[in-house]
Amino acid sequence: MSQYVAAIDQGTTSTRCMIFDHDGAVVSVGQKEHQQIFPRAGWVEHDANEIWANTREVVGQALARANVGTSDVVAVGITNQRETTVVWDRTTGQPVYNAIVWQDTRTTAIVEQLGALGGGADRYKDKVGLPLATYFAGPKVRWILDNVDGARERADRGDLLMGTIDSWLIWNMTGGADGGLHLTDVSNASRTMLMDYRTLAWDAGIAEEMGIPTSMLPEIRSNSEEYGRGRKAGFLAGVPIAGSLGDQQAATFGQVCFTKGMAKNTYGTGNFMLLNTGEEAVPSQNGLLTTLCYQLGDGKPMYALEGSIAVTGSLVQWVRDSLGMISSAPEIEDVARSVEDNGGAYFVPAFSGLFAPHWRSDARGAIVGLTRYVNKGHLARAVLEATAYQTREVLDAMNADSGVDLTELRVDGGMVGNELLMQFQADLLDVPVIRPKIAETTALGAAYAAGLAVGFWSDLDELTAKWAEDKRWEPQMPADERERNYRNWQKAVTKSLDWVDEDVR
Ligand code: ADP
Repeated sequence: MSQYVAAIDQGTTSTRCMIFDHDGAVVSVGQKEHQQIFPRAGWVEHDANEIWANTREVVGQALARANVGTSDVVAVGITNQRETTVVWDRTTGQPVYNAIVWQDTRTTAIVEQLGALGGGADRYKDKVGLPLATYFAGPKVRWILDNVDGARERADRGDLLMGTIDSWLIWNMTGGADGGLHLTDVSNASRTMLMDYRTLAWDAGIAEEMGIPTSMLPEIRSNSEEYGRGRKAGFLAGVPIAGSLGDQQAATFGQVCFTKGMAKNTYGTGNFMLLNTGEEAVPSQNGLLTTLCYQLGDGKPMYALEGSIAVTGSLVQWVRDSLGMISSAPEIEDVARSVEDNGGAYFVPAFSGLFAPHWRSDARGAIVGLTRYVNKGHLARAVLEATAYQTREVLDAMNADSGVDLTELRVDGGMVGNELLMQFQADLLDVPVIRPKIAETTALGAAYAAGLAVGFWSDLDELTAKWAEDKRWEPQMPADERERNYRNWQKAVTKSLDWVDEDVR
């Protein structure tokens, strides 16, 4: 009888379930999009109940398409959009508010108030590895407790739980209000601003300063161990839940970046480059995050430096859905190929402020360099190039922080199907860009973590042997052209700054 590992990939725009066989090949996929809720400028929410319902549905789809029964699934791994935060009632199982999504900027004032207590954006950086920013989970919990009627009293009574999406799913899968396990893993916990990255424990002082009762916080576990078993009738009942990683850590794991010095860049809704720094947590001097890479069972934690970019693929989505300039994301490549270059136009997509390496919540989107000459094709180029330029900024920061220049970049995610972008990326970074055969690295990483925990795969070497190159793009652009383009981009960035003030939010 064949055996399989299931991976649930709960992403920003959709939920997927993938069934993997022992070779690490994808046997089947179930997928469903969920609603993006934009109640006001800068606010982004998801319905946590919809996400849980979609999770059940896509798992059912994937199992049915593979003709695989629950008893053939040896383990399930979970990976999730990170930082997106749910607060729910432990008795009723109901969220008290929509999930507040990682891109949401409503916590700007909370973040400023915390910084004003002393230390500014770096107030907690030594302990949690992160600058104070709207991106992270802790301030989102604080906002819910401050703004939802009765929430603070209920939290103080111990009735409310908080979690990122991993916790929400595991709690529901293991019984929900009927004894569900309230857990998270080190990678997700490292994005809350509440976990000390050295001790891997919650920092009670920071939680108190943010006004978050510690009774709300889940237990922190490793990325690969049996946490519990599915208890939902007809939905992976009895299957060990044995892997959990934030999506970017999962992609790093799926790209088998197991050793110090290996890096990957994922091109999805946003872009996220992670460099494995081994057992050493490297504090960043250049606007990167110090974060957990992975921890297997009671093994030593491995750390990473991360460059997070909020808006890359979602800019293409915006061009499709809000401008109607294209009808599908891949079509942007055709439009961009109708011209030779960007015609002098640069698009800084600071829709949620700018993340790495700038961390400027006062920035907003800008298109600059416009003349009467610029047409739709040039703008399509500017849109794609924005992803590559932002990645160059992050790569430069990574080289500076680590003291070693990266010699190649492993890439994955939805945008790596775009040949024009990948070539431009190699040109701009001046290193080869390499896409693996299995591009679904996020789900694969979650499957690997779960499969390792139950002995389906024996060790990291076995997984490393499965990685294979699909395609590589070599740099071709002359150095002077590369640097001229990049200088223009840096000028464009300055035009997006200092936009948000008291009157313009
Ligand atoms: P996520 O996991 O963050 O939801 P994916 O890795 O599935 O995202 O990537 C989807 C993103 O990639 C979307 O934002 C979409 O606009 C973008 N995208 C997909 N295909 C292309 C393409 N060929 N060219 C440019 N962008 C693309």
